[in-house]
Amino acid sequence: MIDVHCHLNFHAFEKDCDEVIKRAFEAGVTKIINVGTKIDSSQKAVELAKERENLYAIVGIHPHHADKLEKGWENQLERFAKDAKKVVAIGECGLDYYRYKSNDIVDPKLQKEVFIKQIELAYKLKLPLQIHNRQAGKDIIDILISHKSYLINPPGMFHCMSGDIAFLKKVLDLGFYVGFDGNVTYKGIAKGENIDLKKLVRFAPLDRIAVETDSPFLAPEPRRGERNVPEYVIIVGKYIADLKGIPFDKVDEETTKNANQIFKL
Ligand SMILES: [Zn+2]
Ligand SMILES: [Zn+2]
Repeated sequence: MIDVHCHLNFHAFEKDCDEVIKRAFEAGVTKIINVGTKIDSSQKAVELAKERENLYAIVGIHPHHADKLEKGWENQLERFAKDAKKVVAIGECGLDYYRYKSNDIVDPKLQKEVFIKQIELAYKLKLPLQIHNRQAGKDIIDILISHKSYLINPPGMFHCMSGDIAFLKKVLDLGFYVGFDGNVTYKGIAKGENIDLKKLVRFAPLDRIAVETDSPFLAPEPRRGERNVPEYVIIVGKYIADLKGIPFDKVDEETTKNANQIFKL
C-alpha cells in the first residue's frame, strides 16, 4: 500500500519522523510520498526523499500560500525537481475557497495565477499534478479544460477527493485519478459539502483510486483527533474495501498499481 499524500515534512514529525516511517513500512506500507505546500516544506520533502529509500517528494505551492510568495518561486520549484530524481509530481496545487479561521480566503485571482503557473511548470518538467480542491471544483475544472494541452498522460490526481458525483465524473473524464483519506470513515457530511464521501468512494472505479493519509491531519476512525501517520493508510484501504464489498488485498494491489502509474515510481 502506498501513501500518496502526507506531510512528514511538517513540524508535527520533527521529533520522530524516522520512527514513524519505520512503523509504516513494518505495517505494510511500501512507499511514502511527502508533499510540499510552500517553498520550505517542498525543500524539506525533497531532503527526506533524497536520504531515504522508498520515500518520494512532490513540490508545489498550496493555494493558502499563494499570497506569500517571493519572486522566482517557480524557478526554485523547478530546481528542486531537477535536482532530485525522486520528485514525482507538482503539488499540492489548486484552489481553496473554504473560509478558514486562521487564513480566511486568499484572493481567488492570485490563487488561479499560482495554480496555472504550476500547471505550466508540470508540463515543462513532464510531471503529473497533485491537485488540492476545497469548494473550488468548478473553477479548477474550467482551468484544467482551458489548459488541456498542458496535461500529460495520466495527468495526475485530485488528492483528498470531495465534491459531488457530477464533479467526480468530470475529474475522471479528464483522466485524473482520485485520492481518498481517513475522512471517508467520518460519519455524516462534512461542513460545506453536499454529499457523503462514502458515495464518492462507491462510485469511483477501483482502477482510478489512490489511497493517502494527509498526515498529520485527518486521522481515520477510531483514531480521529489524534496525529495521523502513514501506517493508517491501511485503515483507509480496509474501509474502502468494506465500502465496495471487495477483499482488502484487491484494494491494496490496485491502488499500488495506480500510484505507480500516476507517479512512475
Ligand atoms: Zn490538500
Ligand atoms: Zn496535504
